[in-house]
Amino acid sequence: MSVDGALAWLDSHDQVSIDRWMEWLRIPSVGTDPKFDPDTRKAAEWCRDHLRESGFEVDLVETAVPEKGHRGQPVVFGHSPADPGYTGPRILFYGHYDVQPPDPLELWDSPPFEPVVKPAEGKVGERVVARGAQDDKGQVTMFLEAMRAWKETSGKAAGGVPFTVLIEGEEESGSVNLERFVEAHRDELAKCDVVLISDTTMLGRGRPAITYGVRGLVYTEFTLHASDQDLHSGAWGGKCPNPLNELAKTLAKLWDEDYRVTIPGFYDDVAPLTEEERAEWKKLGIDEVEQLADIGLGPDGDVGEKGFTMTEREWARPTCDINGMWGGYIGDGAKTVIPSHASAKVSFRLVANQDPKKILASFKQWLAEHTPKGCRWSEVADHGTGLGVTLPLDSDYLQAARRALKRVSDTDVAMIKSGGSIPVAGMLKNTLGLDTIFMGFGLEDDRIHSPNEKFELSSFRLGARAHVAFIQELLEMG
Ligand SMILES: [Zn+2]
Repeated sequence: MSVDGALAWLDSHDQVSIDRWMEWLRIPSVGTDPKFDPDTRKAAEWCRDHLRESGFEVDLVETAVPEKGHRGQPVVFGHSPADPGYTGPRILFYGHYDVQPPDPLELWDSPPFEPVVKPAEGKVGERVVARGAQDDKGQVTMFLEAMRAWKETSGKAAGGVPFTVLIEGEEESGSVNLERFVEAHRDELAKCDVVLISDTTMLGRGRPAITYGVRGLVYTEFTLHASDQDLHSGAWGGKCPNPLNELAKTLAKLWDEDYRVTIPGFYDDVAPLTEEERAEWKKLGIDEVEQLADIGLGPDGDVGEKGFTMTEREWARPTCDINGMWGGYIGDGAKTVIPSHASAKVSFRLVANQDPKKILASFKQWLAEHTPKGCRWSEVADHGTGLGVTLPLDSDYLQAARRALKRVSDTDVAMIKSGGSIPVAGMLKNTLGLDTIFMGFGLEDDRIHSPNEKFELSSFRLGARAHVAFIQELLEMG
């Protein structure tokens, strides 16, 4: 049993691996749309059978509760037995087999569920084009093929490393049943030490990366009320509160001149950015001026919290944003109205170790303390909170994944974070206390969720090889 044997197996089975991946892509598993339910189930069965052939003990677990009227797609759930001598960590592999609806169909160059291999053109390499090519069937297939390679060459599932696999069919529709599933299978899941997810991107072409942190999220909406009716601005302007004026004035107080959020305690739990991380990120050579140019801004568009670069602000600092504000008259022409109320949507992106519930409570408190004279807030609606997750850079699991990726890519592995949020990872942290390694191989131009989604063969091969090498690292960790 050796990593070289498994890597050689991948090389010699390249075409059959790609064929299997394309076979899965032909099953239109649009989880959100009931008319695709039979196909979505077929895609789950396909995945289950693949894992069984690789020595996993795996079944479909239903999530639907028909008597309560709950729809749901089955979870592919199971494990690989541990080698008797194995003392390393148990890994929870999470992925999803459902895909986004392919619409608008007319914008596809080839039918979304008839995958094709297209040759390289310009910067874009040889690739498979289909719905799900990357997100997430392509990325999950890298894992599946790596498991097959170890089974074929060592005779053991996952080379003897104990994995728990949880591959769901509702990710693209909000993972509505997942938390309940996790609670119901807590005993099995709590045995795991860390989560592995392949659903993220690299830093760029030829720049493999491991994402070790994503941000959390708090999203709110509220209304400020004054008079019990809309008013004439000639008769009432300057005599009583205008909720739009007051809302604008109040929300403007959310930041100081250095673009720091003014809510008391907002930064209390923020893990400080270490000098080591700062230095590592600087070495990545991210061109922030070019990033601004891509969105039509000059270098003076670099606006945000003082004392941090754009990348640092995205990866290590929390932010607050007004996402919408409305009230009064917004139709054509003029209407001299003083509205009775005005509304806003405000969200926060959070970093380690901020607690979304605490931030939500302190924002509500801040609003109450800043109630404009003569006005009142209506109930603050909570549009969802999500916990961010961050693994310390010196985590043994992270270092093992990094060594694995370096072994197969022969290049430095970028350790990056994402300013976005991955709710599943936050939920697994919240319910099971598990951290997540995001080892993904996507590219920014993969067009996930869009027509002509693709995944490049070089990404697919690198990902399969990285997962093979990761097994070896885990075997050596014990
Ligand atoms: Zn997606």
